[in-house]
Amino acid sequence: MVAAGSITVVVRVRPPTSSEAARLPEPCYDTTIRGDGTLSTPKSHIQTGNLREVVQVIDDRILTFDPDEKDRTRAFMERGFLPPGTKRYKDRRFMFDRVFDYETRQQHVYESTSQPLLNGLFDGFNATVFAYGATGCGKTHTISGTESDPGLIYLTMADLFQRIEERREDCIVDVSVTFLEIYNEEIRDLLAEPGQGVPRGGLSIREDKSVKVVGLNELKPKSADEVKEIVLLGNTRRTQSPTHANETSSRSHAVLQVHITQAPRTADVSEQRTVATLSIIDLAGSERAAATTNMGKRMVEGANINKSLLALGNCINALCESGGAIRHVPYRNSKLTRLLKFSLGGNCKTVMIVCVAPTSLHFDDTHNTLIYAERATKI
Ligand code: ADP
Ligand code: MG
Repeated sequence: MVAAGSITVVVRVRPPTSSEAARLPEPCYDTTIRGDGTLSTPKSHIQTGNLREVVQVIDDRILTFDPDEKDRTRAFMERGFLPPGTKRYKDRRFMFDRVFDYETRQQHVYESTSQPLLNGLFDGFNATVFAYGATGCGKTHTISGTESDPGLIYLTMADLFQRIEERREDCIVDVSVTFLEIYNEEIRDLLAEPGQGVPRGGLSIREDKSVKVVGLNELKPKSADEVKEIVLLGNTRRTQSPTHANETSSRSHAVLQVHITQAPRTADVSEQRTVATLSIIDLAGSERAAATTNMGKRMVEGANINKSLLALGNCINALCESGGAIRHVPYRNSKLTRLLKFSLGGNCKTVMIVCVAPTSLHFDDTHNTLIYAERATKI
């Protein structure tokens, strides 16, 4: 499913939060004939909440955004009048490589996204998985998850360590892990003990045949549990502002990189080594950048727009406009895209997990996110 040099785009719809659920309308039931022949009456035709579901998953590849609510229109008609100024719905279909509805478990998301990348890593192909979407739409849940319901990082590492174990007789495989955040175009080490409450920052990128962040802590974990703990701890070190905790933590990108070096036990020539990097990225909230995406046009840089997210969008635009031809891709414009220079396009496999909320509370964010994501499917 994941071809080299292309981006696989999947969408995950998160469940409504309890406060959203409380504002959704009660379901409308049609009158039906019960088994005993009596009629069951409609439960309620009255719109009780002021939210509605705006993402309807049609099948495992298609969703409808802002579906026409025929039931509601009919309900109004049954009551003898039409809804005032009858609303026009966008009722727009989108197709992706995969669509996950809100009952989808982490394991299933894993099997359709990062698992197919593992084989390539052992063959020396870099791979990148990123979670894209507005704040509160499920990125961190998908990437890191929780202690009891761990996300992609844990599931990927568990599988990776198992595969290394299976190869033990033939290969020596070295795994090292770094975890950093990019906040305001500054790289900070999430694995370093925080001094005065902030992670060690101001790190610089060095680039030759590969990209390296100078002075970053590298750990050599032995199990997926160890990585899970590292990541959950690192996440607590992500930048928070004392006034708007959610606001700023949603402006940082958290980047986990797993470096895998593999050498056959029989050979002592270094050419037979393969080196590959898997990057798993919990992106900053897309709410500001998405508003300027504007299909096909270059994104306009604004003072409050996250530079790295914008640059990522512009690299994706350049990669899709090139349609395979060699064209300038502006990797140099931000820390994130410099870091991912060898991990986007080219000889690498990329999966973008697009997270969206299900209700009209996030109507514009979801619409913008889906349009951005649809564009990425053209790469
Ligand atoms: P983001 O990182 O995009 O800002 P979060 O991952 O923090 O969003 O998700 C927002 C809230 O929704 C959190 O409380 C999270 O636990 C919950 N959530 C998100 N996705 C899911 C899911 N698939 N299943 C259950 N809860 C989810
Ligand atoms: Mg988050």
